[in-house]
Amino acid sequence: MSQKVLIEIKNLKKYFNIKKGVVLKAVDNVSFNIHKGETFGLVGESGCGKTTCGRVLTNIYSKTEGSVKYDGKEIGTMQKVDKRKFKKKAQMIFQDPYASLDPRMTIGDIIGEGIEVHFPELSSKEREDKITDLLKVIGLNSEHSARFPHELSGGQRQRVGIARALAVNPEFIVCDEPISALDVSIQAQIVNLLKKLQKTLGLTYLFISHDLSMVKHISDRIGVMYLGSIVELTTNESLYSNALHPYTKALISSIPIPDPTMEKGGRIKLEGEVPSPINPPKGCKFAGRCSECMDICKTEAPELKEIEVGHQVACHLYN
Ligand code: SF4
Repeated sequence: MSQKVLIEIKNLKKYFNIKKGVVLKAVDNVSFNIHKGETFGLVGESGCGKTTCGRVLTNIYSKTEGSVKYDGKEIGTMQKVDKRKFKKKAQMIFQDPYASLDPRMTIGDIIGEGIEVHFPELSSKEREDKITDLLKVIGLNSEHSARFPHELSGGQRQRVGIARALAVNPEFIVCDEPISALDVSIQAQIVNLLKKLQKTLGLTYLFISHDLSMVKHISDRIGVMYLGSIVELTTNESLYSNALHPYTKALISSIPIPDPTMEKGGRIKLEGEVPSPINPPKGCKFAGRCSECMDICKTEAPELKEIEVGHQVACHLYN
């Protein structure tokens, strides 16, 4: 991983107007960078805004406020040529490979679609060769090209999803829960494939997951999201050995340990529900579920602050 910042997100907000006067604050003032060649894990419960964040980063959604720069250029205001280049450079792999692949298209056509759009200069033979190469890279073979998505297993379909993203030679891939719909036995294979591709192709990933045990195996740094905001951000090692935010501690304590005799500290049970992003609490958004809540937490929202090198936390316990 290099020190070069590839993606710079500052005070990003993405709000959805549900109906007149009702606003859903899906992403609320989020800031972080992703370095070239890095895997940045974004974790949190369902509905915390992580997928919306990934969609803004790939320009599927436009931001409401703030700044998202790719290689120094603001993605929302890119000129036509840069926008076209960016579309190639930033790809997405989706959670449900079956739903994201057109059931009426063959695997070859699915992978070839992007090649046709972004490399119109290639002859059909060159395009076929590229599809065959990609199938090989993701661990399938040329025979799979003529098959349809329903003829493949879940793991094979996700490999096709990866090949489709790779077909346009991207630099950055948002992996949105790419293994959570797969059997546990297949999950490690897909993570290993993503790691191998990162090494050989120099890819940068945003790896989105609701499960801290999944991001552990692939991420260099991890941001923990709660109700639209990042509450803790640090390196992989530091998060699992020295989590500080009460929410992160609760998530880590709920990771199952194969040998119960190794269990330290015990499980921290999260009480209550995540508040609605339509009407988030005034102070700390986690206050209603936090066993360490103080008076200040109910009125003042804690800022995300660096409390040791590379370790940021949004909690009044550390202010
Ligand atoms: Fe808990 Fe207060 Fe920290 Fe929020 S700011 S996590 S309520 S201690």
